[in-house]
Amino acid sequence: MRQFRFEYTDAESFAEKLYAFQTQWESGQTKTKLFQIFTETLDPEAIETVCEVIGRIFPDTPYMGCSTSGNIIDCELSSRITVVCTVFELPSTRVEVFQYDLSGNSVDAVTEKILEETRKNPWVKAMELYFTIPERSTTRFCDKLKDVREDIQIFGGVACSDDITSVASCVFSGVLGLLTRSIVVIFYGGDDFYVESVNVTGWKPLGRKFRVTRSDGSVLQELDGIPAYDVYHKYLNIKNDENFFYNTLEFPLFYEHNNTTILRTPVASNADGSITMTSDIDVGSVVRISYGDPGTIVESIRQDSGKIAAFQPDLIHIFSCAARRTFWTSKEPTYEIYPFKDIAPSLGFFSHGEFLRTNGSLNQHNVTLVIAAMREGGKKAAAASSRTADKNSMSRVPLVSRLATFISVTSLELEDMNKKLGQVNEKLKKAAIIDGLTGLYNRREMQSRIETALANVKQETFSLIMLDIDNFKQVNDTYGHQEGDAVIVGLANILQNGEALYRQRVSSGRWGGEEFMMLLYGTDVSSVAFIADLVRQCFGNTSFPVARPQTVSLGVTQALEGDTVDSLCLRVDMALYKAKKTGKNKVVVL
Ligand code: GH3
Ligand code: MG
Ligand code: MG
Repeated sequence: MRQFRFEYTDAESFAEKLYAFQTQWESGQTKTKLFQIFTETLDPEAIETVCEVIGRIFPDTPYMGCSTSGNIIDCELSSRITVVCTVFELPSTRVEVFQYDLSGNSVDAVTEKILEETRKNPWVKAMELYFTIPERSTTRFCDKLKDVREDIQIFGGVACSDDITSVASCVFSGVLGLLTRSIVVIFYGGDDFYVESVNVTGWKPLGRKFRVTRSDGSVLQELDGIPAYDVYHKYLNIKNDENFFYNTLEFPLFYEHNNTTILRTPVASNADGSITMTSDIDVGSVVRISYGDPGTIVESIRQDSGKIAAFQPDLIHIFSCAARRTFWTSKEPTYEIYPFKDIAPSLGFFSHGEFLRTNGSLNQHNVTLVIAAMREGGKKAAAASSRTADKNSMSRVPLVSRLATFISVTSLELEDMNKKLGQVNEKLKKAAIIDGLTGLYNRREMQSRIETALANVKQETFSLIMLDIDNFKQVNDTYGHQEGDAVIVGLANILQNGEALYRQRVSSGRWGGEEFMMLLYGTDVSSVAFIADLVRQCFGNTSFPVARPQTVSLGVTQALEGDTVDSLCLRVDMALYKAKKTGKNKVVVL
């Protein structure tokens, strides 16, 4: 694989260069070739001229290109219109260019066609995507491509223009020409073609988690229920002014999707407190603000460059987010990719978004560097160890990176502690209204429920059943206090599980000792008496570990307008007293 580079200035000199290339390198050879054109200008006339010259001199060679926010050749910025011809040297290597119009076809139709092509072409090992800036999200497109054969690597970028905040972009090829809503797909493959694709961000999560509670496409409305802008303002003191984009660039949102980490950068803050992001983030995603520290970023890239070097590529394709170029304001725009410079010739561009398939799923990233390394044939030699890692490099972590780690760990610990406190709080709240032995409401809670029901008695009538286990002292005396408890719990269980049985809204509580109270909403007194008797029968048939079955007496009364908690409880107590006096194990209604 070899790369030939042409800087385009005008049609005439470009044609001369191509002719010279043809005579010097091409005479009598019929190697597979591919022309790729990267252009910072969107001028269709200039682009079409370039394509026309290539088409004229190399009519059988496929070409494609896209608009960019900066062209990269050999890890340096190159001219505004850069043309690269890749010559594949092994006859088994195959390349094919496809283009789809997104204005006339649905995402589903396009992805179906791409899938069909991958099925028809079993030689494909890699798919390179060039997308125009999407109107909404590319999530559906990415999800649909999950079905592409597992061993096919997918990578690429979203076209851009030299105005990073503009949505103007184009892609083009010999298939459909220049389009502003389109996708170009390149298939690479063959028996002797090898490829390895990775992504690097270098940005590190910082601080607490937020849940996306409201979003619409790439407009992020709320995090944890508060306007997204307020988060950036509160935690980073970033003002809603013309520098918003540049100030937030260091702090994109970081989240997990398809088991991979993805970054999204704020582009603009809106009057309603929402923030327009570089791409969509789904509602429900858990995001964290992340921090781009130059030292950490360069270190991550340096480490990944080691992996790429070990692959021994012939050629490297680089898709780097335009936001990263802006990030390195005080350095050369391609400063961070210098570690790749000595590995192999490279081409690429500053993009609006970056594609990479990881663990089977395709994702569209932002603020990310995607690297695809390609090689024909086996590795040339055992990997030279000239690139042995600098063992000290990791101990030279900059102070700011250590502080970022400190903040991150501290806030995660706080979150964990808050979660535990929340659980304790819930338990305490529950303990305040629940009786410890039976799990029923306690007396205070029952009194408060009776009070609430009384306040509402005109709208909904209700009744009380008061229960007292008969001759309970004897149970304690005969079988011991523990068995006494078992009898109390036995009656409580009937009340607890009885709701389904009575088909009635009920609140049941332990009134004290072996006394219980049931509050039944919206039912007439005769059905309440029926339910009370059901409970009585159930309890009478309940067996206990040691004690023989016991009995219970029940008083029933209906709440009347003008009742107070006291008058009502007194009446139900009277009913119960009457049941006791007249032989126990019965229901009395008053
Ligand atoms: P009656 O049929 O008239 O209700 O007779 P009784 O024996 O049930 O009489 P009373 O209601 O006066 O006695 C209640 C007894 O319940 C007194 C007390 O020792 C016992 N008791 C109260 N709370 C508990 C408890 O939590 N566990 C146990 N095992 N016994 C309790
Ligand atoms: Mg009693
Ligand atoms: Mg009793």
